[in-house]
Amino acid sequence: MSLVITQPFINGKVDGSTADNLLHQINPASEEVFTEVQGAGLNCLQRAIDGAQSAFEDHWRSFGTRQRADVLYGIAAAIKTHRDELAQIESMNVGKPIADARDEIELGSRIFEYYAGAISKTYGQTLPVAKQGLDLTLREPLGVVAGIVPWNFPFPIACWKVAPALAAGNSVLLKPASISPLTALALGYLAHEAGLPSGVLQVIPGPGSSIGEAITKHPLVRKVSFTGSTESGARIMELAAPGIKRVSLELGGKSPNIVFADADLERAARESPMSVFANTGQDCCARSRIFVEDSIYDAFVERFLEATQALKVGDPLLDGTQLGPMVSATQRASVESYIQSARQDGRTLAWGGDRPYAKGYYLNPTVILDTETNDRCWKEEIFGPVVCIRRFHDESTMLKEVNDTPYGLSGSIWTQHLARAIRVARQVESGVLSINTHSSVHVEAPFGGYKQSGIGRDLGMNALDGYCEIKNIFIAED
Ligand code: NAD
Repeated sequence: MSLVITQPFINGKVDGSTADNLLHQINPASEEVFTEVQGAGLNCLQRAIDGAQSAFEDHWRSFGTRQRADVLYGIAAAIKTHRDELAQIESMNVGKPIADARDEIELGSRIFEYYAGAISKTYGQTLPVAKQGLDLTLREPLGVVAGIVPWNFPFPIACWKVAPALAAGNSVLLKPASISPLTALALGYLAHEAGLPSGVLQVIPGPGSSIGEAITKHPLVRKVSFTGSTESGARIMELAAPGIKRVSLELGGKSPNIVFADADLERAARESPMSVFANTGQDCCARSRIFVEDSIYDAFVERFLEATQALKVGDPLLDGTQLGPMVSATQRASVESYIQSARQDGRTLAWGGDRPYAKGYYLNPTVILDTETNDRCWKEEIFGPVVCIRRFHDESTMLKEVNDTPYGLSGSIWTQHLARAIRVARQVESGVLSINTHSSVHVEAPFGGYKQSGIGRDLGMNALDGYCEIKNIFIAED
C-alpha cells in the first residue's frame, strides 16, 4: 500500500465516510495541489474517540510492558524501513529539504526506540510515611490523550507526542495541521501494521478551529499535548479549563544567540546562520535575535553574511539544498510584512528580503542590522528566514534585553570562558540552552519553554510524567 493516505486513519483503517473538510495539499515548491485529504467531521471524530476509549479499556491498558515495548520497537523499525518514502512525502508536503526530511524521519524512529526502552524503566516509589505501614506509588495511564501538532516539523513532533503517550499505556488521538497531515496519517497506518491494536492511535486531520477545539473540549479526552502558536495555546487552555483537563503546551519563541568577544568567532559566525534559517526559519527554536559584543561586531557580521550568502536556496527534493520554500503563500506574506516594517523603520537590510524564484513560496534569508528593541522584527516571532543583529556593550544590559520578551524557549551562548557560560546560562530565561553550538533537541533530554513559550516538557523521561497519573496506596501493617 502507498503511504500516501488521504482519509482519517481510525480504528485500524481509513475512514472514507467523511468529506466534511477537504484539505488541499499544496507542494510549496511548485504551488500546485498534489493531493486532497478528507478532513474528519464531528461524527468521524466521535467514532475515533469512542474507538480510542474502547481500545484503551479492552486492549492497550492491559498489555504487559514487554508486549507494549515490542510494539513500539516494531513502529521504530517500520519508520526506518520506509524512511525514504516518508521523507519524500514530507518534503513535498511542506517544502523541507530532502536531507533534513530524512533526518527528521530517522529522529522519529529513534524516539519510538527510546520510549520502547523507557517502558521498563518507568516505576513508582516506596515512601517512608509517618504511619505504620507501607506506602507506595503506581504510575497509571490517563486514558485517551490528544496530540495536536503544527506543520513545521510534522513527523518528529507527532512522534514525540505519540511515543511517550503510548509507552505510558494511553490511547492517542493525533491531529496534524491541515496543511501537513500526510506523514501523520502514514504513521497511523505503519503503527497499526506493526501490531498496535486498532483504535490505540487515531489520526484525525481537520481544522484546528473545529476538530482541534472539539477534541480539546471532549469529556473523554484526558489530556491535550499541544505544539503550535502561543495564541492557539492560550485558546486550548481556555477550552480545557471547564473540564480541568491536563494540557501541556509547546509554543512560540524569539530566541537569543549571544556571541561574546572571546568566542571562537569563525565557528560562531559560520554556524549561526543555520540556527535561524534552517527549515526556512520556520522553527520555534530559531535564534532570531543575535547579540554580538561590540569589539567583534563588524568581524562577526562580515563572516555571518558570507556564510548566509553561501546557503543553497532551491528545490527541496534536490540533495544539497539547504533552504526550501516557505510552507505557504500566507506564511511568506506574513514574513514579508515584517521585512517591510524594518524597511519603513529605516533599518539596514544587509542581505535578502527578496524572492529568489518566481514560482514556489521561496524567500531569501534576510539579515537586518541596527534594529531597535521596540521594532516589530525584534520583538515578535516572525517564523521565517529573518534575523536581527544588535551589538552589546555590557553583560547585564544585554541580559535585560535578552529576557525582555514574553517568550523563553531556547538560545545559544558563544564564549570560551566557562564561568561566563554558566553565569549567563543561569540568567537567560529559557527552557533549552546551547553553549558553543545550536543543538537544542535531544531525544533523551527535556524540551520546552519558560514564560509564554509553554508549559510542560516533551522528550526525555520528563515527557512520561505528562502522560501518567500517580496513584498513592497505603497498606496498613496491622
Ligand atoms: P497553530 O497554533 O496555528 O497550529 C498548531 C496546531 O493546532 C494545528 O494542528 C492546528 O490545526 C491546531 N489548532 C489551531 N487552532 C486551534 C484551536 N483553537 N484549538 C485546537 N487546535 C488548534 O501553529 P502553526 O502555525 O501550525 O505552527 C507554528 C507555531 O508553532 C509557531 O508559533 C511555533 O513557534 C510553534 N512551534 C512550537 C514548538 C515548540 O516545541 N515550542 C515547535 C514547533 C512549532
